[in-house]
Amino acid sequence: MTTDTLNTAPPALVPEEDAIFLDFDGTLVDIALRPDAVQVPEGLAEMLMDLHAMCGGALALVSGRAMGELAGFLPRFTGPLIGSHGAESRGLDLPGASHSVDLAALHARFAEFAAANGLLAEPKPHGAAIHFRSRPEAEAMARAFASEMISLHPGLTLQPAKMAFELRPEGATKDTALRLVADAAPFAGRRPVYLGDDTTDEPALIWAQELGGIGVKVGEGASAARWRLASPDAVRAWLAAATET
Ligand SMILES: [Mg+2]
Repeated sequence: MTTDTLNTAPPALVPEEDAIFLDFDGTLVDIALRPDAVQVPEGLAEMLMDLHAMCGGALALVSGRAMGELAGFLPRFTGPLIGSHGAESRGLDLPGASHSVDLAALHARFAEFAAANGLLAEPKPHGAAIHFRSRPEAEAMARAFASEMISLHPGLTLQPAKMAFELRPEGATKDTALRLVADAAPFAGRRPVYLGDDTTDEPALIWAQELGGIGVKVGEGASAARWRLASPDAVRAWLAAATET
């Protein structure tokens, strides 16, 4: 794959024919120093609702964030949500995650490690994350901590993300969730379109393309996606263009 193809802007959406799956952080909104500090641009939820209606409801947000948190950022978006990498969902027929981890103990251990090392711990409904965005030099230490936690918690697996290491339930991945929902209404029979910015999005980008759909990598970095948009700003403009007819 050449750099030229990677830098190609995606073709226009066809809302009557597409099933649209969108990551949130780094795709629809800019990444902030802390995950709770992201700024949601005015009108984003309304634009997503317009597009959701135009494609017969076949538009879902797909995030590693806890679903409640994701919903809290977009209270006026009432369409389907996939949270915690597929371990939680809203408006979809997904089984959800099962594991037997003592989450309170896990969250306490993450908080303790973060406080001792100037990092940020993020408790999640099905795991936990350690963020080193504020201290990039602490990456190796954060990785070692996350790996140690994995070895102590069977059923969880390591998910590297942008400036963070996360423990998520084994089997809870965005592409697994999409494979489970895409064959059902309102998504079935439509061309899958997936947009994402992170390593967690790569299998979903590949999935969309294998089905003859569109995979769009957002921002810089290596990707299996055939198309690319430079920033969340560019993503919002590309999505909005499909609603302006
Ligand atoms: Mg993202």
